Amino acid sequence: MDRVLGQSHAVNLLNLQLSTGRQHHAYIFHGPVGVGKFTTALAYARVLLCHNRETDLAGRVTACDTCPSCRLLAKLTPPDKDAPQDDDTLGLTTAHPDLHVIRKELARYSDDAQTRNRKLTRIPVEVLRSALIEPANLAAKLDGGKVFIVDEAELLNPSGQNALLKTLEEPPAGTTLILVTGNEDRLLPTIRSRCMRIAFSPLPDQAVKDWCDQHARDLTDEQRRVLVEFAAGSLGRAQLITRYGLLAWTDVVLPALDRAAQGKPTADLGQQVFSFIDSFANDFVKAHANASKEAANKQGADLMWSLVATRARCRLVELAQRCAPDDPESGEAALSPWLATIDATEQAQKLLASNVNLSITCDHFAVSLCRGLCASM
Ligand SMILES: [Zn+2]
Repeated sequence: MDRVLGQSHAVNLLNLQLSTGRQHHAYIFHGPVGVGKFTTALAYARVLLCHNRETDLAGRVTACDTCPSCRLLAKLTPPDKDAPQDDDTLGLTTAHPDLHVIRKELARYSDDAQTRNRKLTRIPVEVLRSALIEPANLAAKLDGGKVFIVDEAELLNPSGQNALLKTLEEPPAGTTLILVTGNEDRLLPTIRSRCMRIAFSPLPDQAVKDWCDQHARDLTDEQRRVLVEFAAGSLGRAQLITRYGLLAWTDVVLPALDRAAQGKPTADLGQQVFSFIDSFANDFVKAHANASKEAANKQGADLMWSLVATRARCRLVELAQRCAPDDPESGEAALSPWLATIDATEQAQKLLASNVNLSITCDHFAVSLCRGLCASM
């Protein structure tokens, strides 16, 4: 697990459990998308499944690299979540008989035609039963127990989560469940209370800069600076930004926010924002078989609100540093447009979560931005 980047809190906690022999049977790995939760889950599974765990000089328990389980897992690399070859997921499940990765993409391989042909917006309960609940009750094929990783666990609907409760409550011996989620709020309290929750944080900017050095060498210094800000500590997001050309968003949206903060809002900002998200979602659906437009819209909108909110937070920090301590009123006046911007993104997130149409949500975002600005002038 020492190869996991920038998540020392989570990794130390897991190492401590391994070295004291007090592993939990169920975990929730939660935190922003693209910061290494799934990679950590795989690395932890590798140690749990190892038949001859070793202790290194620092007292950390590690996998041996030579037992049958380690040899099977050595062939695998964590799947690139944004890569179109989603079958990597199946490589993980079939290469090691006791490591099971449950993702919405498994629905494509269901015996049931209706489940198979459904757009991938959820993890169907049928998939959960056949890929987790039933195999959890069978004996391990090798000697090291069984690990089930549910990726994007927030995509289990309440009936799926309820179906999981019994397995979480009385897990068969030697079985470990790891629920990986970027949106822990969507898990039922009964699920959360039965798991050990481990928080993952955004990665330091330096990690994104290092990633740029390897994967985005063509960028100018300014583009690189903007990408690091937009990625907000997520390598998964940095990949999406470069792959789908989302730096173009920043050329339009960020200057519009600055103009709005100076009292000169852009008339059609709502529709510009909508068209960026819509075209990202169309490209994403084209690149991923069975991807749903609705889920891609939400993914694009999350990126957009994050871009806006991150810029607002950066401006707030800059302004707070420049504010004169003996003039709190002018300081407050300078900060308010950016506080109003953050409010507008939060409202937009809530609207989209309650299934309001994307175009209306974007217009509402632009209107509430203007309203907040007027109130702050
Ligand atoms: Zn081993």
